[in-house]
Amino acid sequence: MSSGTAARPRLTEIADGVHVHTQPHGGWCLNNSGLIAGRHGVVVVDTAATERRVALLREAVDGLGTEGHHTVVNTHHHGDHVFGNHVFAPSAAIIAHEKARTEMAETGLGLTQLWPDVEWGDVRVTLPTVTFRDRLSLHVDDRLVELLHVGPAHTTNDVVVWLPAERVLFAGDVLLNGCTPFNLMGSIAGSLRALRRLRALGARTVVVGHGEVSGPEVIDQTDAYLRWLQQIAAEGFAAGIPPLELAGRTDLGPYSEWLDPERLVGNLHRAYAELEGGELGRPLDVVRIFGEMVEYNGGTLPECLA
Ligand SMILES: [Zn+2]
Repeated sequence: MSSGTAARPRLTEIADGVHVHTQPHGGWCLNNSGLIAGRHGVVVVDTAATERRVALLREAVDGLGTEGHHTVVNTHHHGDHVFGNHVFAPSAAIIAHEKARTEMAETGLGLTQLWPDVEWGDVRVTLPTVTFRDRLSLHVDDRLVELLHVGPAHTTNDVVVWLPAERVLFAGDVLLNGCTPFNLMGSIAGSLRALRRLRALGARTVVVGHGEVSGPEVIDQTDAYLRWLQQIAAEGFAAGIPPLELAGRTDLGPYSEWLDPERLVGNLHRAYAELEGGELGRPLDVVRIFGEMVEYNGGTLPECLA
């Protein structure tokens, strides 16, 4: 495990007072955070996975020089986005979808067990103090910041953060750039529906959950991958081929350039579950399927540079 060898995070101002804390290269657990600075505090969109990485994020927030009460938004319950909540609490409100709170309580620090060799440091489960169901508006001075629940997509509880005046969209892991989408804990059909909603917003700048900041074209790229996935899943399902076997014989084509290709196995399990019917986003056996993703990789744990 080459823990800690990824490049240092980068802070970029993408609109007046709106910053992105990017963690290259964007693979497993290297997520992005948004910093929306106001006169009396910063809205921090997502934290980070490890003590060391949260400390770097905290430094970036402090560097904006804004005194007051910060606000943390968790775009979904995954550890890389929430494990640093405690560094901002208790003076910060922690906001997330109501299902994110439930999932965080249930999954706890489970992510750390998937990569036992990563130096996680002091990470904690700090649950949201404010939850909502459909949408919530924040007002950062005169700036409107809209939180919209668009799940099930990457998970059941995905929230995007939309700045209508600046046309900036923080998409959480509903959109990734240069990384394979991952819908095992969410929904393929739900993602396609979410992408239609996101496209209609008319974003100029899209801050993806992992990877470099993009334009709206990342919506179309993700849409194309998910439709390709649904098609190969439908054929494999009809032929009775198990997801792992199907993944092994699938030519990734243009998607072989993307990081974390083993996610195909998890995505196929989700697509199969949707072909079987039932509620979108219903729980699947994530630990067992993650084991199959390792098997797809020839028995090697996917690389996590957190
Ligand atoms: Zn995630």
